[in-house]
Amino acid sequence: MSDRFDYASPALKVLFGAGRSAEVADAVGQVGGTRALVLSTPEQEGLANDIAGRLGGVSGGVFAGARMHTPVAVTEEAMAVVGQGGIDCVVSVGGGSTIGLGKAIALRTDLPQVAIPTTYAGSEMTDILGETRDGAKVTQRTDKVRPEIVIYDVDLTLTLPASLSATSGMNAIAHAVEALYARDGNPVITLMAEEAVRAFASSLPTIVDAPDDRDARASAQYGAWLCGMCLNAVSMALHHKLCHVLGGTFNLPHAETHTIVLPHATAYNAPAAPDAMTRLARALGASDAAQGLFELNQRLGAPTALRDIGMPEEGIEPAVDAAIANPYWNPRPLEKDALGDLIANAFHGRSPSGEI
Ligand code: NAD
Repeated sequence: MSDRFDYASPALKVLFGAGRSAEVADAVGQVGGTRALVLSTPEQEGLANDIAGRLGGVSGGVFAGARMHTPVAVTEEAMAVVGQGGIDCVVSVGGGSTIGLGKAIALRTDLPQVAIPTTYAGSEMTDILGETRDGAKVTQRTDKVRPEIVIYDVDLTLTLPASLSATSGMNAIAHAVEALYARDGNPVITLMAEEAVRAFASSLPTIVDAPDDRDARASAQYGAWLCGMCLNAVSMALHHKLCHVLGGTFNLPHAETHTIVLPHATAYNAPAAPDAMTRLARALGASDAAQGLFELNQRLGAPTALRDIGMPEEGIEPAVDAAIANPYWNPRPLEKDALGDLIANAFHGRSPSGEI
């Protein structure tokens, strides 16, 4: 354990448990709202209408236009609804895309937010907002965007398809993995990160086999909460930078890219982060952390090769160059050849040690 660290706990309330989205009207009242706009993606409009129904007289209607990566054009549409309707609170029900829209509105208006997450992405716990304008994503951190109340209702996750559950869960685990070796880590976050990996590793295989298993779903949602806290509290390193480069350069799907790269980035950092690897392996029930993550992906039927999600083979070299172009802190220094091996292994779907 480090004998010198900072720890800050954000002012945010969490309501965890089956059926608790029924408490949404009370949550809106607690943040001072009298007219709440419910946000969702088009696919989850039915759920948003249910939540609006629960709000009764406090409902200010539904805006079901949320989209991946928070396009500014969509935020402007939602802002017009906020401006016309006397809205004084937003309720975001959905995954990171919907919660991103709520954050974008809060950034512009300072309105309080109640978030009801239905995936494992973890955005609801963070002060991070990534917005897309003209195809470019700009990310910022500000306390203004963190929701005031988060309601984790396992019942709303039962419909998340098995494949999305697997990649959303692995994407969350990536936050815990990088928290375990973060430069600005602390003992509390380390405990949360290890517990989060344990919760996901024990529940995701069951979820993939039986997506309506409520105990497994509750365990995964608990892991998602912890991973969100990790992401909020500490800086990410190589894994996140690599996924950002790969996703941005080749327009790869977000959660799948994280899922594929994570075992390889973990293997790269393993020699420089032995304590993190011990904790990770223990949480995964594996003898080797990176191999344990790779085998978890295989067990979940998740993608394991970047070539299968749209990356071209000639992209490996440019990706290495882009990954080392803007240096950043990582437990192991950035070494061009070793990074080339890492990306090639991830491209071909080899194990993290480079075997087929
Ligand atoms: P998403 O919100 O885009 O959801 C994917 C699809 O699944 C959508 O159609 C959605 O309506 C649907 N869906 C969500 N929950 C469902 C459920 N329970 N049942 C059935 N369908 C459901 O996906 P995501 O992975 O949660 O979010 C990805 C976005 O979040 C990305 O833009 C990413 O950058 C962002 N993100 C931000 C942070 C942050 O801290 N700012 C953290 C993690 C992710």
